[in-house]
Amino acid sequence: MAAHPLKPLRRWLAHPGAIGVGLLLIALMVALHLMSNAVQNSEFLSRAFVPLLTVVLFGLFALALMVGVNVIRLVLNYRHQTVGSRLTARVVLLFALIALLPLGVVYYYSLGFLLRGIDSWFDVEIDSAMEDALKLNRASLDLNQRVLMKYSAQLLAGVEDRSATALTLALDDLRRQAGALELTVFEPNGQVIGTAIDDPTQLVPNHPERKVMQGLRLGADYVGLETSEDGELIVRVLVNDPRSRPLLLQAIFPTSTRISELAAKLEDAYNRYRELSFLRRSLKFSFSLTLSLVLVFGLMAALLAAFATARRLAAPVADIARGTREVAAGNYEQQLPLPAYDDELAFLVASFNAMTRRIAQARDHAASSQRVVEEQRSYLETVLGRLSSGVIAFDDALNLGTLNHASRQILRLPDIGDAQLSLEALEAAHPRLTHWGETVRRRIKAGQEWREEVTLIGNEGRQVLMCRGSPLPSTGAQSVGHVVVFDDITKLIRAQRDAAWGEVARRLAHEIKNPLTPIQLSAERLRHKLLPKLQDMDARLVDRATHTIVQQVEAMKAMVNDFADYARTPQMQDEPFTLDTLVGEVIELYRASAHQIRLNLNAPGALVRGDSKRLRQVVHNLIKNASEALEGRRNGCIQVSTRLIQGDDAPAIELSLEDNGGGIPNELIDRLFEPYVTSKDKGTGLGLSIVKKIIEEHGGIIVADNAEHGARFTARLPVWRADPPVSEPPPRQIGAS
Ligand code: ADP
Repeated sequence: MAAHPLKPLRRWLAHPGAIGVGLLLIALMVALHLMSNAVQNSEFLSRAFVPLLTVVLFGLFALALMVGVNVIRLVLNYRHQTVGSRLTARVVLLFALIALLPLGVVYYYSLGFLLRGIDSWFDVEIDSAMEDALKLNRASLDLNQRVLMKYSAQLLAGVEDRSATALTLALDDLRRQAGALELTVFEPNGQVIGTAIDDPTQLVPNHPERKVMQGLRLGADYVGLETSEDGELIVRVLVNDPRSRPLLLQAIFPTSTRISELAAKLEDAYNRYRELSFLRRSLKFSFSLTLSLVLVFGLMAALLAAFATARRLAAPVADIARGTREVAAGNYEQQLPLPAYDDELAFLVASFNAMTRRIAQARDHAASSQRVVEEQRSYLETVLGRLSSGVIAFDDALNLGTLNHASRQILRLPDIGDAQLSLEALEAAHPRLTHWGETVRRRIKAGQEWREEVTLIGNEGRQVLMCRGSPLPSTGAQSVGHVVVFDDITKLIRAQRDAAWGEVARRLAHEIKNPLTPIQLSAERLRHKLLPKLQDMDARLVDRATHTIVQQVEAMKAMVNDFADYARTPQMQDEPFTLDTLVGEVIELYRASAHQIRLNLNAPGALVRGDSKRLRQVVHNLIKNASEALEGRRNGCIQVSTRLIQGDDAPAIELSLEDNGGGIPNELIDRLFEPYVTSKDKGTGLGLSIVKKIIEEHGGIIVADNAEHGARFTARLPVWRADPPVSEPPPRQIGAS
């Protein structure tokens, strides 16, 4: 990956803060450099050092502030255990150590060297050498001056003519001889007697100072090194006349240029040396201060660099840590910001992003697959729920898996939940299912497709189940269980039996009814013909015999008619009527009955569609049976009630008749609705078969069971249209009370 050359610059420009810090660092470096220069130049030092120091201190304060803010932020983050704070702390500490060690060592030795260097400048030997040089200079000048003084005295002693003109001429000669710049003769009061000056432009002699003149008057000659108005170094000599005349001579000699230059330099150097040695302490202090400030600057800069680097390093690492945490919590959506630099960290972050993207895709894919599976599952459940056959899936450990609605109904397990239940537990909870359970277990163990009819016997009668089973297709080497499908064929078998009985009855009725009328007619004819002709005994015999024949034939006819009724193909009327009204009207006929009849009709607006005459017969038959069951009993009571209920698919009306006649014999209860099932001597056993037939012709069902004190018959008929019941009518009582 070749980086663009302008990329770092652009990155910098994107961070104005970083530019500010950079400028501050550069300014500080310049200021420190100037400070170190200022320290070396003592003249400049006093002027520029203090302002520079102020600038540097301000700059360093700003840097320290930045470092301080960063440190506080880091400490807070560390305490709150913010992601990345540990790494930042480590990097900063490492940087600080790495910077501090070399800086400290350099600082220590530099300071030592510096202080020792400064001390060495002002070494005692150098000091005395300097002073000796100066003394030497002065001594040589002294000697020179004394010679000049003696020479000047000799010159004055040689002056004879004191007249002004002669003196001026003599002085001019003497000046030239002596190589002096000026020769002037004064009177003791300072008045000029004669003068000779080298410089023609100078008209007036160079007067000595008043103090010097006074000293001279007291007899002390003077010689001194002075600087002329032109800046030249000159030797001024003033002597009294050695011949004790009241005369003074002033001679001004030039010094040699080389000597004067060297002397000036020496003087200058000595003065500078003095000055420096005077400033030695403050110099040392300034150097140490500058060096210390450089050290602090270096440290601060290193710390700032450490924070910047740590941020740069820790930010992507912290991002990745945060991202990993999010991924662990199941959030795959987030994408981490890519670091600004194209390095391994950026590669790591990019890989992390790619990974989370892929995981999110995989999760979405899994979720959509799961959705499809769920849809298929719910579709399957719906289909299974709609099936009229019971379907149960078993796993290999014979635990019940899927269990559809029909299977719950057929096995009469309304309360069974969806929790995994073993076949054994099911059998233990419902002993009537033991036979079925054994069959299923045996067949599943055999591991083949099977088909078997299983009969269950329980309190509510016999139940015949047609069961089919098949092992489920295995996935790989493992088998996944077995599915058992079963139907309740009890009703089917009963219907087949009913149909067979109907056929038998029809044929029987036909076969029996045909000869009955000729038998009856023949008997009546015999009676008619023979009875008037026979004697008493015979006549009585014939009378009795023919009477019996006719009677039995009548009875047989009635029986055959019953058969015919049962076997008759219905020609049903189809009209709507109110069942409550119908029941009320039929019960009205039993008003004179010996037993009490309680009416509780709660479906006044419910209309049933069908043949009201045949339904009347149903009520008649049931009332008749109940009355017969109550025969000879005291406090016999028949409870007749209707109510609206919500059936499986549609509303239904429930008609129920309950008596307190002792109940249905147990041995009959299962076959009660079959023809010819009777417990009565003169019963045909057809009453209830007809009842059931009529109810079923109207799309209803009827069941019989024993209630607390007697038999209970409950019939359900589909409601054609139900107007909401206005109010519940009070129970009515009919018959004896
Ligand atoms: P039948 O009345 O001719 O015997 P049914 O078919 O009407 O024929 O009745 C069959 C049998 O059902 C009766 O013999 C009787 O044993 C029983 N049974 C019917 N109704 C009742 C009832 N209310 N109480 C007790 N047993 C009844």
